Amino acid sequence: MATCRECHGKGSVQCPDCKGKGKKDYGGFLSTDYRECKLCNGSGKKKCGVCNGKGTI
Ligand SMILES: [Zn+2]
Ligand SMILES: [Zn+2]
Repeated sequence: MATCRECHGKGSVQCPDCKGKGKKDYGGFLSTDYRECKLCNGSGKKKCGVCNGKGTI
């Protein structure tokens, strides 16, 4: 067992879609439409795919 290098043992990584903010601009060009990020459901975090959320490999 080793600490996951992807999430540093936390089991979650920053959401790549909203950059960890939890909200994302779904508006188009010249418009803004901030809504809860669909990828992370507003949490700003995503389960680590490398360790499957366990934090260790
Ligand atoms: Zn997100
Ligand atoms: Zn991990």
